[in-house]
Amino acid sequence: MRTDVVIIGAGPGGIFSAYELMKKAPNLKVKVFEAGNPLDKRKCPIDGDKVKSCIKCPTCAIMNGFGGAGAFSDGKYNITNDFGGTLYQYIGKEKALNLMKYVDDINMTHGGEGTKMFSTAGSEFKKLCMQNKLTLLDASVRHLGTDINYVVLENLYNELKDHVEFHFRTPVTSIEKLDNGFKINYDGGSVEADKCIVSVGRSGSKWMEEVCNDLNIDTLSNRVDIGVRVELPAAIFSHLTDALYESKIVYRTSKFEDAVRTFCMNPNGIVVNENTNGIVTVNGHSFEDPTKKTENTNFALLVSKHFTAPFKDSNGYGESIARLSNMLGGGVIVQRFGDLERGRRSNLKRIEEGTVRPTLDATPGDLSLVLPKRILDGIMEMIYALDKIAPGTANDDTLLYGVEVKFYNMEVKLDENLETIHKGLYIIGDGSGVTHSLSHASASGVYVARKIIEG
Ligand SMILES: Cc1cc2nc3c(=O)[nH]c(=O)nc-3n(C[C@H](O)[C@H](O)[C@H](O)COP(=O)(O)OP(=O)(O)OC[C@H]3O[C@@H](n4cnc5c(N)ncnc54)[C@H](O)[C@@H]3O)c2cc1C
Repeated sequence: MRTDVVIIGAGPGGIFSAYELMKKAPNLKVKVFEAGNPLDKRKCPIDGDKVKSCIKCPTCAIMNGFGGAGAFSDGKYNITNDFGGTLYQYIGKEKALNLMKYVDDINMTHGGEGTKMFSTAGSEFKKLCMQNKLTLLDASVRHLGTDINYVVLENLYNELKDHVEFHFRTPVTSIEKLDNGFKINYDGGSVEADKCIVSVGRSGSKWMEEVCNDLNIDTLSNRVDIGVRVELPAAIFSHLTDALYESKIVYRTSKFEDAVRTFCMNPNGIVVNENTNGIVTVNGHSFEDPTKKTENTNFALLVSKHFTAPFKDSNGYGESIARLSNMLGGGVIVQRFGDLERGRRSNLKRIEEGTVRPTLDATPGDLSLVLPKRILDGIMEMIYALDKIAPGTANDDTLLYGVEVKFYNMEVKLDENLETIHKGLYIIGDGSGVTHSLSHASASGVYVARKIIEG
């Protein structure tokens, strides 16, 4: 079997590569290999009734399959170079922004029309943040919502499926370099291709590392973000979320001068479990559908840890902390801010008596037994800083879920075409370490498709 282009992974990166190739080079034969299921077969067995926690399925319906890790996400496409990845360092700021806008245009013609675009431009909150030692980052945010995001993916798949050959439940096991292209191996077969685009996301990070080792591609790994998910009454943040939807705010702690930032804000949303390599961490969603909205807003507060030599395993460090919370709580731990302040664990009674109704069934416990002091101090400092721009953030009943870990893939050594030392082998999306978001991953997909078309 020989083909023109093989794409490994059908997350946003892979999908947008396939889409661009289909539109701009319809004569090219493209095959997509995806470890997970088609979109309509992606069903997480946790139903809160019979199955309450992760049963570690062979492929995780949340992380794997058409749509990738983003399929059931909140569908926030942040159009910015300020966060979400470092694509601009490879291709330039203007080109990166234009590609993100191009992706937004495609989403808008595939079911996203009518969704709202928020922007920090000219926002009065910039000054308010500055006055309180906080920095509001610049961005335009398209909020699709989990439901519309699904519709967009469904529409993209329906358009792609007659032009692109999809192989689901087919994890690629290895890539071999040939004199005239690449041999892509999977259980029970292989295919040869002129070009290969690897877009395996975070769930494929360990495999990506093996590929880089096998093919002598240099990598670098030194960052992990660790923190908690904050849940509070939506009214407390409504002046910010109504205007900006998601505000990315950064605080520099006075004690250690660490950067703590808000991440993934979900107005009227829910807190959810996330499973990474069998470790349960926390995340959040929100829906466009008014009937699914809750009375709470949630967001993460994360502290970035950059390690220096000799330590290399930043993700291992994050995993160990998450494992500790799983060990103590059997999964995610929840604690009232007031209990954390008083140095006591939360229990069911205190949570039930509180004014914030938790949207995730987590184990009441003590996060100070899980998070390193430096990280916990930074988070508490930031909660007090946020309390100045959103009074009530530091209320006793504010809930903190832990731990939230944002793992970063190791950075793969790539050139300005996102191409490895092996010409024709491109690594894109979160699996490359270059992107950490829907918009950047998608933009990187369009970019390499164009590079392939240009020849
Ligand atoms: C719960 C959740 C919420 C999120 N919310 C947002 C948000 O609102 N906004 C935002 O910008 N970002 C969000 N993100 C992050 C976003 O989803 C990712 O940045 C984005 O999906 C990365 O796209 P990708 O194509 O690089 O990788 P992925 O989406 O991870 O896709 C990679 C695909 O490759 C497949 N794969 C892996 N290994 C192999 C293999 N060996 N062979 C074949 N296939 C393989 C996987 O099954 C997967 O489907 C969220 C993530 C999660 C988990």
